[in-house]
Amino acid sequence: MLVVNTIEELQLFFEQQKGKSIGFVPTMGALHKGHVSLVEFSQQKCDITVCSIFVNPIQFNKQDDFTNYPKTLESDLKHLEAAKCDVVFCPSAQEMYPNKIEKDFDFGILSSVMEGEHRPGHFNGVAIVIERFFEIINPDFAFFGEKDFQQLAVVKEVAKQTGFNTKVMGAPTVREASGLAMSSRNLRLSEDEKIAAANISSELKYITLNKTAFNPQELKANYRDKIDANPFLKTEYIEIADGNTLLPVINWEDSDYPIAFTAVNVGEVRLIDNMTIIN
Ligand code: AMP
Repeated sequence: MLVVNTIEELQLFFEQQKGKSIGFVPTMGALHKGHVSLVEFSQQKCDITVCSIFVNPIQFNKQDDFTNYPKTLESDLKHLEAAKCDVVFCPSAQEMYPNKIEKDFDFGILSSVMEGEHRPGHFNGVAIVIERFFEIINPDFAFFGEKDFQQLAVVKEVAKQTGFNTKVMGAPTVREASGLAMSSRNLRLSEDEKIAAANISSELKYITLNKTAFNPQELKANYRDKIDANPFLKTEYIEIADGNTLLPVINWEDSDYPIAFTAVNVGEVRLIDNMTIIN
């Protein structure tokens, strides 16, 4: 497995591999089985898999979150080696952004609801880094987790708006045995917080199984009550929205693809999750 820090080294490698299809898995490191599953999807579909590890400063709307983001490079490389990833690209911020960054994407509703509303500027930062990666790597396929469902929708829009031919693929959320969605930020949870955080997925699951008994407002209110009753948890938002438009579902008839989306603060750590609601 080749590990490179510069665009020049990466492009030299691509020149030696001319004609092969490239799959790309962008990450911010602190890798877990969710990330590895994306590498595996890429390997099934493409000749070469490139994984990037870059904690993108411009997608953090809180300095603390950026500073405290877990960094585990040594173990990340072991995971990627074991998963038979071909190349790992770990650029510096200077390598990624040698010039002043100024671009304002317009994603309309996609970036103004839920994560867009609660993390101003976040998706613009994501879009800028993804466009830059696409420019450097020009992948045939790029793989993203449905755990960050709204990000996946935004990235599909980035590919469309910027005219890259990269096909953006989504992959299912990988969970702990407790149901907790795997996340790099879970490394920052205490044991008690980790146990409490498993309620996020069990309460989302309750929503997905109770469409016939309750309307969306009732299910959202019940979720908030249950989550906030736990002293370790505080709901930031719970939304039921259409998976295609991300518009809120007021009545079940509004959508044939409703998804429950949430952000919950677990102590100092903000976690997100979502689940598709069964018809
Ligand atoms: P991150 O390192 O958190 O920026 O995530 C890198 C990629 O891994 C993104 O496409 C995420 O959606 C994806 N990812 C993160 N957690 C999971 C998970 N539990 N299951 C599947 N994919 C995930």
